[in-house]
Amino acid sequence: MELEELRPTWDEYFIMLAKLAAMRSTCLAFPVGAVIVKNKQVVATGYNGSPSGTAHCTAQGYCYPGLSSCAESKSLPSRAVHAEANAIAQAAKHGISTEGSSIYVTLEPCLSCLKLIISAGIHEVFFETGFNSGNSLLVRDSFIQDGLVTLKQIHISEAIAQKAATFLMNPTSVATPSLI
Ligand SMILES: [Zn+2]
Ligand SMILES: [Zn+2]
Repeated sequence: MELEELRPTWDEYFIMLAKLAAMRSTCLAFPVGAVIVKNKQVVATGYNGSPSGTAHCTAQGYCYPGLSSCAESKSLPSRAVHAEANAIAQAAKHGISTEGSSIYVTLEPCLSCLKLIISAGIHEVFFETGFNSGNSLLVRDSFIQDGLVTLKQIHISEAIAQKAATFLMNPTSVATPSLI
């Protein structure tokens, strides 16, 4: 295989960073990571979890007492700040503009996050796993039709995923025979 093929595309690069951010998730529902990118530069990252300073779902062993996950209850709202919201909040906290940026997320944004994304001036969403269905899909598609935002599902190629695993499992910066 040509070495160039084993170099991640920008989309693969940023979604891999989002996957790494998801590893810091503190909610038991499922891990989600987000990376806000402007001009191919990372401006903020985020992952889902309860607000800064509150007990982490993962530390408590439950989201609400008696509820194993923030996604378990139909009536109780999630305790977690979503990854996209946390990334936007991080940018706000540090005074970094998100106007005209893109966001890479491991899960398609829920409607609340998508509205926040649009209002933050983020025009492009790249996600790995789909989320919206039913009426949420209708609202999502109306935002797309109004030209407010674009959404694109992306995946990491198997060769790149394998290379990433090798990089994580071994010291990265060592000479490989094929490069000498
Ligand atoms: Zn939770
Ligand atoms: Zn959300």
